This record gives sequence, C-alpha cells and structure tokens, in this order.
Amino acid sequence: MTAQLIDGNALSKQLRAQVAADTAALKAQGLTPGLAVVLVGDNPASQVYVRNKVKACEEAGLHSVLEKYEATMSEADLLARVTALNNDSSIHGILVQLPLPAHIDAQKVIEAISPAKDVDGFHMASAGALMTGMPGFWPCTPYGCMKMLESIGYNLTGKHAVVIGRSNIVGKPMALMLLQQNATVTICHSGTQDLKAMTLQADVIVAAVGKRNVLTADMVKPGAVVLDVGMNRNDEGKLCGDVDFDGVKEVASYITPVPGGVGPMTITMLLVNTLESAQRALSDTH
Ligand code: NAP
Repeated sequence: MTAQLIDGNALSKQLRAQVAADTAALKAQGLTPGLAVVLVGDNPASQVYVRNKVKACEEAGLHSVLEKYEATMSEADLLARVTALNNDSSIHGILVQLPLPAHIDAQKVIEAISPAKDVDGFHMASAGALMTGMPGFWPCTPYGCMKMLESIGYNLTGKHAVVIGRSNIVGKPMALMLLQQNATVTICHSGTQDLKAMTLQADVIVAAVGKRNVLTADMVKPGAVVLDVGMNRNDEGKLCGDVDFDGVKEVASYITPVPGGVGPMTITMLLVNTLESAQRALSDTH
C-alpha cells in the first residue's frame, strides 16, 4: 500500500484563507487582531521562525509587531515588556520566541504572559485548561496535528494513539488532545522499553522526538495514520522528520511529509489562536 499524503501546505492555505476572511470581518467591526512576537538574542533558527510568523500574519491581514532585543537583555526588562504588551489593547497574542538566553528564566517569562493572550498555549493556565477541557489556547503544533486528522475525517473514538515524545510543547498536549477525542492514548519516551511493541498496536502514531528514523516500517501496523512532528537534518543536510518516510509510506494509510507537513500547520494555528483571542476580546466588550 502507498499511503496518502496529508499535505500541511495545502491545508494551511485553506485555513489561512479562512483566517484572512474572518480577520477582514473583524476589521469591519473596528478590531484588527494583533500579534506581538518577541525575540531576544540572535539564534539563527529563531530569526527564521519569527520572520515566518510575522510574514504569515501580514499575509492574512493581522497586525503584527516584531520586537527584537540584544541577548544581554535582562530578565526584568523582558518581564516589563511582557507586562506592557499584556496592557496593550492592539495586541491579542504574545509570543516570546524560545529558547531564551540562559540568564533568563523562560518559564517565568511564559507565566508573565496574560493567559488571555497566550496564543502559544504554553502558560500553566493554558495547560490546565487543556487538561480539564476548559476553554483556553492549545499549543500550536499538536493543535495543527489535530486539524490534520480532522482534514481526513478521522474519527479517533476507540482508536489507539501512540505519541512518541512527552515534551510540554508537543508530546503531552498532543496526548491530551487525542484523549479528549476519545482515543486510547499511550505516551512513549526515552525510558520506554520496547517502542516497537507499542507502535505496532497503534492506529495513529505521532512522532515528536527530534531523531531521524525513530519510526521505521517494521514498527507500523498496516493502515495506521502517521504524523511526523520531528525536524532533523539528513546526511545531505536536508530537512527530514523522525519517520523513515520512504519505508513507512508503504505501510501507513496516511502520512505527513517533512517538510510540508506539520511545520506549516504550526504557524497556521498561531494565526487561528490570535484571531480567536481577538474575537474573544471583541465579545468581552459587547
Ligand atoms: P524535546 O523537548 O526534546 O522532547 C523530545 C521527546 O522525545 C522527549 O520526551 C524524549 O524523552 C523523547 N525521546 C528521545 N529519544 C527517544 C527515543 N529514542 N524513543 C522514544 N522517545 C524518545 O522535543 P520537542 O520540543 O517535543 O520537539 C520534538 C521534535 O519536534 C523536534 O525535532 C522539534 O524540532 C520538532 N518540532 C517541530 C515543530 C513543528 O512545527 N514542526 C514544532 C515543535 C517541535 P524524555 O522525555 O524521556 O527525554
């Protein structure tokens, strides 16, 4: 069998067109959704990420502000900037690009962001909301994975989902989202003894590790759906995921490519969250 691709670029295009239409409707009511992106230091990968986020905002008609600071910025100064953005009514989403320089406590900065503007979904209040099924912002990468499953009309009820990776930004929230949709969820990590025994039982596999070939064809049940969150470089320096794509696509029913899979969805869901934050702000004033 050759799996069908879940094309993150095509799905993003569709969702971003909807964001642009909803943004135009909001603007007609006098409110422009706004995202502030804060970058501290000159990490080259972070510079690319923030540029892409700001560009995506502009293309969808959202207002965006990019604040760039020297790596020597103090924690106190950064916290003061976050407070100012919390109080800025033109800003509905605040994103502080990670990683931060070592002298800054990233968790402290994340907790300083108002949960109402936490469009990255990393605040403890957002994590708690996801855990308890309350309204809040979902972290963009796993949220994008859920949209990809939705796009193929996949019903998770009663299915076994295996998530490989348990980070706070991908693995854990991914597992909670799958659970919320009535999947039976297994979370694997570096201490898992027999990963293959787990993945072979899975109807859905989400690989979020950051290591090439963590998932190979012999580890996948025929017909499983495979989502590849990983971002790695192969021997030729090309971007690749955690999944041995060429092998697994012969076994899976659906698979996401890297690049062009989960990556573009992450930025798309950031736009979706920022728009939603603005919509909530508008309904709060009515
Ligand atoms: P992370 O914080 O490093 O977490 C990696 C997880 O993988 C950890 O839970 C770790 O287990 C687990 N792990 C490591 N080796 C393993 C193994 N051999 N078998 C099973 N589990 C193993 O990384 P992350 O932030 O979640 O990101 C994961 C990957 O996704 C990275 O490649 C990252 O670049 C990519 N990513 C992509 C996007 C996107 O937009 N496409 C967004 C975010 C992240 P322990 O907890 O036991 O250490």
